[in-house]
Amino acid sequence: MQNKLSLFFQKHSIKGFLDHDEGLALNRYALQQADIGPCLELGSYCGKSTVYLGWACQEKNQTLYAVDHHRGSEEHQHGELYHDPELYDANLSAMDSFPAFRSTVALSGLDNTVVAVVASSELARRDWQTPLSMVFIDGGHSEAMAISDCVEWSQKLASNGVLAIHDIFERPEDGGQGPYLGMKAVLESGDFTLDERVKTLVFLRKK
Ligand code: SAH
Ligand code: MG
Repeated sequence: MQNKLSLFFQKHSIKGFLDHDEGLALNRYALQQADIGPCLELGSYCGKSTVYLGWACQEKNQTLYAVDHHRGSEEHQHGELYHDPELYDANLSAMDSFPAFRSTVALSGLDNTVVAVVASSELARRDWQTPLSMVFIDGGHSEAMAISDCVEWSQKLASNGVLAIHDIFERPEDGGQGPYLGMKAVLESGDFTLDERVKTLVFLRKK
C-alpha cells in the first residue's frame, strides 16, 4: 500500500496540503479503524488526503465520506495567500475545487468507495447519526471553526474511534492556533487520549 501510494503521487501531481508521511499515517490508521465502521474527512480540497484514507477504506470494503463545500478556506479566497487561479470559477466569482476533487477520485479508482458530501461542515453534521470509526479534521482554520469542528465531529465517533486533526501548532509563531485549540478542547472533555503524533497531525482515541 505504501509503494502504491508513493507511485500514485509521483505519477499524478495532486494539489494539496498534506505531507506524504502524514498521509501514510492517515492510511495506516484508517486501515486499523475501518473494521469498526465508515470513515469521514472534513476538508478534501483536491482529494489528496482522500486517496490516503480512501484506499484504506476500499481495502476493507468500507465507505469514506468526504465533506467539503469546495468553496475554499479563508486563505484560498481571491487575493489571499493560497489562492489558486486554476480553482476559480469566474462565472460565479467563487472558488471551486470540486472538479479537481472528482478527477482525483476517478484517477485513484475510488468511485466505489468515496461519497462526496458537498456541503458545509455544519450542514453535513446536522443530521449525522452513523457512528464513525475515524474522522479526519482538515477544514476551516479559524479558532471558532476549528474548535466547533473538532468538538462536534468527535461526538459522531464510535467507541474506540479515532479523531485525527491536521495543522497542530503549539506556538503561534509556527501557525494558526485553531486546530491546536480544537485538540485541547477535545482532550479536556476527558473522553479522548492522545494516541500518536506525526509532524503536524495528531491522532486522538475515544475511550
Ligand atoms: N485535506 C486536503 C486539504 C484541505 S484544505 C488535502 O489533503 O490537501 C481545507 C478545505 O476545507 C478546503 O477545501 C475548504 O473548502 C474546506 N472547508 C473550509 N471550511 C469548511 C467548512 N466550514 N465546511 C466544509 N468545508 C470547509
Ligand atoms: Mg491541513
